[in-house]
Amino acid sequence: MQEDRRYHSVRLDKDRCKGCTNCLTHCPTAAIRVRGGRAHILDNLCIDCGECIRICEYHAKVAFTDVMANIKAYKYAIALPAPSLYGQFRGLTRPEFVLEALKRVGFDDVFEVARGADIVTRAIRERLREPDLPKPLISSACPTVVRLIQVRFPELINHIVDIRQPMEVAASVARAEFCKKHRCDPSDVGCFFITPCPAKMTAIRTPIGQKKSELDGAISMMELYGQLLPHINEMLDDPDFVPATGYGVAWATSNGEANAVYPDNSLAVDGISNVIRVLEEVENDKLSDLVYLEGNACMGGCVGGPLTFENSYVAKNSIRKMVGHMPPVHPDSAVPISTLNKYPTKNDLPIEPNTAEKLDDNMVDAMRKMKRMNEIIKRLPGYDCGSCGSPTCATFAEDIVRGYCTEMDCVHLLREKLKVMAEDMVELAQSRRE
Ligand code: SF4
Ligand code: SF4
Repeated sequence: MQEDRRYHSVRLDKDRCKGCTNCLTHCPTAAIRVRGGRAHILDNLCIDCGECIRICEYHAKVAFTDVMANIKAYKYAIALPAPSLYGQFRGLTRPEFVLEALKRVGFDDVFEVARGADIVTRAIRERLREPDLPKPLISSACPTVVRLIQVRFPELINHIVDIRQPMEVAASVARAEFCKKHRCDPSDVGCFFITPCPAKMTAIRTPIGQKKSELDGAISMMELYGQLLPHINEMLDDPDFVPATGYGVAWATSNGEANAVYPDNSLAVDGISNVIRVLEEVENDKLSDLVYLEGNACMGGCVGGPLTFENSYVAKNSIRKMVGHMPPVHPDSAVPISTLNKYPTKNDLPIEPNTAEKLDDNMVDAMRKMKRMNEIIKRLPGYDCGSCGSPTCATFAEDIVRGYCTEMDCVHLLREKLKVMAEDMVELAQSRRE
């Protein structure tokens, strides 16, 4: 698959956008502007968190994922369901019902991403044995959190654990096992993640820390839910099937990963604004006694993703009940250490910061623009009202300096200017009468 560094799953449907500015102040990276009566997403700042999808009552923000027809591009297609998929079906007692349903809607084989989570758990626990690690080590599982760190907390990049996401490790194992069993070429096999969020789709097209994703696409849980529902009545019957542990399945919910990786001294945070607050504490060195930090952009963890169907609290409860009936086997016992050498589990590229674009390539001009920006900020009221089309007064000043808008887009400055003009006209009229 061709990788596009500017790819974003979250996009604007221009025809539906009313320019209401509701999404403007909810974006955690100030990536939205409203100009000419329409929202615009700034490619370099968007982290595909999906907050704008949740907030837009006109459904003008949408997530692009693959459709089922795309699996036909491959001779064989493997479905890799995120464990949060199991939480979408009330009363589900075993993952095998969902796995069989995936085969019935057209996949040739299935592989649980929860099994990838088991391998990743083992890999991170081995990593944690090494000395002199930054504290806390931060999970790499939620791509939105990793991109948030790249954009807003670049000095914390070295805290991100250099182990691949469960879906990537799962895809490596799934493809290798399928090719071995069916004696086929790896290029004949398409691996499709069943995703609860747009960020995973973006992470497949533009991987972070990897040259290339092991996956070939992602299909939204929302799209598949209706197709799977009529088939959730029979268990997968495959003598070669290796189930994930309950610990791997629990990665679907907040604290599932932290509990598997380092229950004695870890912290799990969910919801993008909560994650930002905790990362600020890490940045200020206030959590350096913590060993491991799990951050999920969505409330409740992946079960709260914008592409899920079920209420996240109900889904979390369904997962909890299902895991309660699974044998209490930890990934340390389920995953042989040799697995970590057999399949790629570590990143092959460093994670780079993604800080805002420079004001100007020329240092002198950049300084001049910075000075002008600060002068404009002093004249602005500091209300961060968004009526100018920028999320804050500071971003508005920056947008003016960059030439994207003018001071007259601010209603407060416009009112002041009109007031001065009116006073001038009164003065002029008086002087003529005299
Ligand atoms: S919330 Fe944003 S995307 Fe939705 S209509 Fe308003 S400005 Fe447009
Ligand atoms: S997906 Fe998130 S980061 Fe991107 S524009 Fe929407 S709210 Fe902002």
